[in-house]
Amino acid sequence: TTSVIDYFRQRKRKRAELTFEPRPIELRSDEVVDGVVGLIGNTPLVRIKSLSEALGVEILGKAEFMNPGGSVKDRVALRMIEDAEERGLLHPHTGSRIFEGTVGSTGISIATIARAKGYEATIIMPDDVAEEKVKALLALGAEVERVRPASIVDKKQFVNLARERAKNFGSEPDPAHPHEKHRGHLIPTASSSVLVTTTADEALADNALMSPKEEREFALKPRGFFADQFENRSNYYAHYDGTGPEIWRQTSGWIDAFVSGAGTGGTIAGTGQYLKAKKPDILVALADPEGSGLYNKVKYGVMFDKKEAEGTKRRHQVDTVVEGIGINRLTHNFELALPIIDDAFRVTDAEAVAMSRYLVQHDGLFLGSSSACNLVTCIKLVKKMGWSNGERVVTILCDSGTRHYSKFWNDDYLAKAKIPVDMGIIDRLLTEP
Ligand code: PMP
Repeated sequence: TTSVIDYFRQRKRKRAELTFEPRPIELRSDEVVDGVVGLIGNTPLVRIKSLSEALGVEILGKAEFMNPGGSVKDRVALRMIEDAEERGLLHPHTGSRIFEGTVGSTGISIATIARAKGYEATIIMPDDVAEEKVKALLALGAEVERVRPASIVDKKQFVNLARERAKNFGSEPDPAHPHEKHRGHLIPTASSSVLVTTTADEALADNALMSPKEEREFALKPRGFFADQFENRSNYYAHYDGTGPEIWRQTSGWIDAFVSGAGTGGTIAGTGQYLKAKKPDILVALADPEGSGLYNKVKYGVMFDKKEAEGTKRRHQVDTVVEGIGINRLTHNFELALPIIDDAFRVTDAEAVAMSRYLVQHDGLFLGSSSACNLVTCIKLVKKMGWSNGERVVTILCDSGTRHYSKFWNDDYLAKAKIPVDMGIIDRLLTEP
């Protein structure tokens, strides 16, 4: 029989040995997939006919809105949860709860996969996020907490609150087992979630006198897990092992540029790094909405200075018509993208709105705000490069318009926000030299 200490030594060693090995891509089956998780990834690339024909450059969009949770974030939620399971941080059907601070898409993905795998989910978001996202979360059985937008340094900011809630989950000391109180909580460290440390392991090692039964009971205790998509490197690997290889395979390596916006930065970092490793001269371009500091970071090495940031609405990641991309702090996942981003483009809210209407009109594609930003950037990149000879640009269609009825796809809301709905903007972008 192994002692508890041996058990945890082995587990620690196992965790230290755990590297992120590339995972082979499983081709989506034509017939039967294994549960909702089997529907994630392997999305098609769709040629955007109107833009491709107008530019003489093939514009391909990765149809991430076809994921079961409706967005690219399904990949990330799945990888974060599976990596946590592998590290022993989550055990299904134990009443364990996943906590995340998100403006929506990631929450819906986590809630979906939590249901499928036997976990509970608590999603904390700013209170001005499009209402349909909240409805989806509630329908999926997630607990939703909406908080007044606050700066990232504020304790009550939604990401900080999620971390705090996870930490305190199940921490009520059990009077029958006083040692419970220092068993700690299983959360990734704030700075790095790659090598996750758990205070519980250390606490358990202290409690070497626990019987195997107690140990088993401990393993099955409900746990709080803070998914931490902004800092968690599983996010990056979801794209490095998934989105990137899929695009490479789907294009047979014939690809000249990759365009993506960044919220956490996971998509552009993981996909961009993979594609660059395959073909170093692929251009990687960032699409950045109004109010975000990432454009400045890429172009000049600094985000907004403090004074500038005070004046921007995206400082608190709120009241923005483009949801999901653009941010004013440097996340771990975006840091991973910095070495491979070649260029950045600003996209105005009006341009994004115009693009979304243009795509419905010409292509029957009903897309969300970040997809529209990405496609505006594709045009800007093609124009800047002077391409017109069948070059190929690939971007991400992150989610569909159905996630955006109350803001981005609401003409009354746009009128109040003084954002014009003018498809002529796209015609002009396309015809300008
Ligand atoms: N589009 C949407 C709709 C999103 O929710 C997000 C994530 N916040 C993104 C794009 C950006 O992806 P990433 O977090 O990988 O940078």
